[in-house]
Amino acid sequence: MFVYICKMKKVEIEILENWFDLNYQKKIQGRRIVLKDILPLVGKLKQKFKIKTIGQSHLKNDIYSITIGNGTKKVLIWTQMHGNESTGTKALFDLFEFFTGKHKLSNIAESILKECTITCIPILNPDGAIAYTRVNAQNIDLNRDVIDKKAIESRILQEILKQLQPEYCFNMHDQRTIFSVGKENNPATISFLAPSVDKQRSLTEGRKRTMEVIVSMYELLQKIIPNQIGRYTDEFYPTATGDNFQKMGHNTILIESGHYKDDYLREKTRKYTFFSLLQGLNFIANNKEEANYEAYFKIPNNNKNYLDVILKDISYKNKKVDVGVLFEERLKDNKIFFIPKVDKIDNLSNFNANKIISNLSLSFSDEEKMNTWIENEFN
Ligand SMILES: [Zn+2]
Repeated sequence: MFVYICKMKKVEIEILENWFDLNYQKKIQGRRIVLKDILPLVGKLKQKFKIKTIGQSHLKNDIYSITIGNGTKKVLIWTQMHGNESTGTKALFDLFEFFTGKHKLSNIAESILKECTITCIPILNPDGAIAYTRVNAQNIDLNRDVIDKKAIESRILQEILKQLQPEYCFNMHDQRTIFSVGKENNPATISFLAPSVDKQRSLTEGRKRTMEVIVSMYELLQKIIPNQIGRYTDEFYPTATGDNFQKMGHNTILIESGHYKDDYLREKTRKYTFFSLLQGLNFIANNKEEANYEAYFKIPNNNKNYLDVILKDISYKNKKVDVGVLFEERLKDNKIFFIPKVDKIDNLSNFNANKIISNLSLSFSDEEKMNTWIENEFN
């Protein structure tokens, strides 16, 4: 019996991988996704799903909701609350493809749509998306504005929350390359969080329900990208969206899409973000039993032990050091450029990187010369 179950699960992942490779939403790719990229796609979804304009951003860009399914379990998903964090948006449109086409996993799609009503807000912060910034056009971080509600985008999100009263929320973010996981310091490709509702990080019933969903997503991903899945710090942030929504009784799952080796456009990570969303919804729709929330605490914590490049054994002011480089993302002519900058000059034996280069026999007398060399080398 046990062997049979394992086999079933393995086949499912293969089918899912195959489906994804052929059917993901190829019309949106790369790091910067703006409103005009998704508008034609939203237009097409009108035939199948309920589309509404739920408001306008500070700079009068439309914010949409797309509602799918007819079930009693209400779910709210929003993406790009931070304008430059687009992986969740790409995964969301992959999810719409999954729900529209006929395929070998249509039974899963149908059961989710039967059990759940899912309201999705792609690109909550369209002004930040255009400017490729975390904040909105008034320089407000929407994820720290839940109490003050200074930003129109925060008020729009909370109005929808009030109307829908969702049982579950998915709060979609991207995290920087710096996050690692485990002893081997693998890149944290996906990180999860069941936010705390107080300073004591109390284990409320709601948090347990949130953790159960995360455990189901973690277990699926662990089979595909083992030891690249982390747990984000559950320190209580009194002004953060997830913490407050969780406190208000909406079980809020935070997904942080992160780095996968050489995947600077986050196209691999997008796949695992989509898998996470699908598995989370599948669990919410179909799990009937008491599930295992304790396993949440076995998910390893994120560390900050990952860099874009490490140069080993460089001579610097007559000492042997390692040089850690991070890429700064910069928007120019509507394109994203990755500008390498020296971040650490130290012994970096506890760090991992996307690229580790040794035997360079280089020598620098100051940091400026080092930065110039690195910019030339990696551009
Ligand atoms: Zn974010």
